[in-house]
Amino acid sequence: MALRIATRGSALALTQAGMVADLLGGAELIEVSSDGEPGDKSRFVRAVEAAVLDGRADIGVHSAKDLPGEEVEGLEIAAVPPREDPADAWIGAGGSLEDAPEGARVGTVSLRRRAQLLAARPDLRMLDLHGNVDTRLRKLAAGEYDAIILAAAGLRRLGREGEIGFRVPADRMVPAAGQGALALQVRTGDAASAAAARAVGDPVAFAELRAERACFTRLEADCSTPIGVHAKADGAVLRLGAFVGLPDGAEWIHDELAADPADPEAAGHALAERLLGAGAAELLARATQKSDSNPTPHGRWAENRTHGQVFGPSAGGCAVGVTRGGVVYLVGAGPGDPGLMTRRSLELIADADAVYYDRLIPPGALDGAREDAKLIYVGKQPGVPSVPQAEIGERLIEAARAGRSVVRLKGGDPFVFGRGGEEGEALRAAGIEFEVVPGVTAGVAATAYAGIPVTHRDDASAVAFVTGHEDPEKAETALDWDALAAFPGTLVFYMGVKRLDENAAALIAAGRDPGEPAAAIERGTWAGQRTVTATLGTLAAAVTREAIKAPALIVVGAVAARREALAWLERRPLHGRTVVVTRARAQASGLAKTLRGLGAAVVELPAIRIEPRLGDEEVRAAAAAIADYDLVCVTSPNGVKLLFEALADAGRDARALAGATVAAIGPGTARALAAHGIAADIVPERFVAEALVEALAAVEVAGRRVLVARAAAARDVLPDALRARGGKVDVVALYETVREAPGEAAVAAAQDADYVTFTSSSTVTNLVEALGDRFPAGARIVSIGPITSATARGAGLEVAVEAERHDVDGLLAALLADAATS
Ligand code: SAH
Repeated sequence: MALRIATRGSALALTQAGMVADLLGGAELIEVSSDGEPGDKSRFVRAVEAAVLDGRADIGVHSAKDLPGEEVEGLEIAAVPPREDPADAWIGAGGSLEDAPEGARVGTVSLRRRAQLLAARPDLRMLDLHGNVDTRLRKLAAGEYDAIILAAAGLRRLGREGEIGFRVPADRMVPAAGQGALALQVRTGDAASAAAARAVGDPVAFAELRAERACFTRLEADCSTPIGVHAKADGAVLRLGAFVGLPDGAEWIHDELAADPADPEAAGHALAERLLGAGAAELLARATQKSDSNPTPHGRWAENRTHGQVFGPSAGGCAVGVTRGGVVYLVGAGPGDPGLMTRRSLELIADADAVYYDRLIPPGALDGAREDAKLIYVGKQPGVPSVPQAEIGERLIEAARAGRSVVRLKGGDPFVFGRGGEEGEALRAAGIEFEVVPGVTAGVAATAYAGIPVTHRDDASAVAFVTGHEDPEKAETALDWDALAAFPGTLVFYMGVKRLDENAAALIAAGRDPGEPAAAIERGTWAGQRTVTATLGTLAAAVTREAIKAPALIVVGAVAARREALAWLERRPLHGRTVVVTRARAQASGLAKTLRGLGAAVVELPAIRIEPRLGDEEVRAAAAAIADYDLVCVTSPNGVKLLFEALADAGRDARALAGATVAAIGPGTARALAAHGIAADIVPERFVAEALVEALAAVEVAGRRVLVARAAAARDVLPDALRARGGKVDVVALYETVREAPGEAAVAAAQDADYVTFTSSSTVTNLVEALGDRFPAGARIVSIGPITSATARGAGLEVAVEAERHDVDGLLAALLADAATS
């Protein structure tokens, strides 16, 4: 018998229920009606619940945010389908909360939205707005409001997302618990319906909802309380944020934590306890009193408006985030090589609400930032207008006051010629708490990479960091050239290129030996670092001749001559070579990292991207029935990763493979299997399907069930051969590779490449198509094996190097051998 789904009859509810019916592979929709007031959602919720309770329907579909926190006796939430955008959407004039028109009339009855809008923008005027989505949009069009606020997901489901002015980010307006999610409710004990619901559910979305509901319930909130709770789980972290405030935005509490997604209830309770500790109960009591009266004209509250309070994670024992709201972290990002960033800096970047960053931060430094974090460039570049220093301070203060955790990210060390001291003083003066995270300063890093030890037992017992170019606003120079000339050790000048000539002359005039060794190091620790050595008397001319540009350090001292013996960077096997990596981004990092470690400048041109197909019916079916297979063949490390994800989705793990013979197409795939606790039974030497067919010759296949887990577009050599031997072969496509347009900067950087590496035929085809006549003409082509080489030749490329072992290690070995001789 088909499943029956209970739903309200509104357009939105019917669309949602229809979606669930589709996911379930068909179901009968039971429309319930209610005699409630329009807009009284609780009556509709109860009507749907009644239909499930009395057996007219098997599954009730609810907008999760309409469900009260407590479960109804006899019913339970069995699953949550993949969640849609949980954000609130602003429909009407303005491109962001900041630039919405002054005094705009905003329609929303939600106290949660009112409180947060007014907390951010006290000038807005809140007006009541009732009716379904269509009615509300009509009222807006009729000019009754300047803007209205609706859930982005609801608009999308109705195909009306085009009307969204902007999405209000979840940190500016914390969504309602459950917003964007549907809840599938079943009768307690109805195992069949629960299983059906779970099969279309998303465990991550369910965990998020459980955390939100736990927090919401513990705060004894209901749908009419001005409270937002929002969870986002990704990977190993569940981030949970909540807002509690008065409807007029005059007082509020905002708190966040990061917790283990394995126990969402505990996270919800922990956050609720912290909010209660910060006075949430009292605030909510006052909020409810005020909301009993009719909407109050905003002006009445404006006079006694106080600052919103922000409470960061408490010192208590529960799982807490790394950063605290309202705190500014002055963080050093090191000199340029991403590997020289401190662990603490990465941790803070990953957790911060906002990152204000400079120009000279390492490539990829912000890759780990949260998706919803604000990343704001405030760098200075010579000759280009920039944000004035005083304004940077003000912005940091403003962001901290708004309750954000703020990372101020600077090159090198924040307190070494980094103006971190000034920013700290401005923060202290404004009463903002800050922390300082030191970074590796260029003075020791660029020198080390150049093979120059800044101290040495024979040459230098002291080192001085000196600015070669002071604040241009300062009239007098503060540098004491006599003292510097007499300094018994190494002089390291920052910002010293522009005035090198004058500074060297001043040092010599003050008595420093013009014959003393000296060096200039350009872009130290970055790809393309350059060093010139000379003497104090001749360095300026050498720097001009070699066109050394900022950022560069000037080193004066006997240690500069040690470079002859100690230079190491330039000796690495791929130093000075540019290598293009064409793998999909998810796979490229290993290869790119190894190449960089060998000294190459790497340009990543991921012409393809892996698109998992874990939602496909055939994948789900194969994962659920994996224990029935006698032989399981996996044809790539990606396949392994996704196979185990599919198993996890089906509630299984490696033990499901206990009875099967497991074959890997090559050593990389075998390694990926080993990481999941599976030692592959069969691993051919050569990494091609034909070799796997040969290696399987000894395995009994006739009449046995065989699963080939692989990419969507793959050759049929393996399944064909196994079928020919009488195997009952199922093929599942765990993913497909889709084309990705490379970025302009990467394409430009690739033009001078020495090598282009191809790890599969699809990387060849895609890159050739993506680059067209901008394919780097002078590059030598390195191919992983004969099939990829044939494709490359077919595309008109000349293959210079072909790997002997057809995997990434083999490709690297071939490239290194070629670089050693060419
Ligand atoms: N806070 C930074 C210095 C900022 S002043 C630190 O601790 O490193 C900027 C100057 O630092 C540049 O003009 C240059 O002299 C030096 N510098 C910064 N990064 C550099 C690098 N990668 N290589 C050489 N010099 C660098």
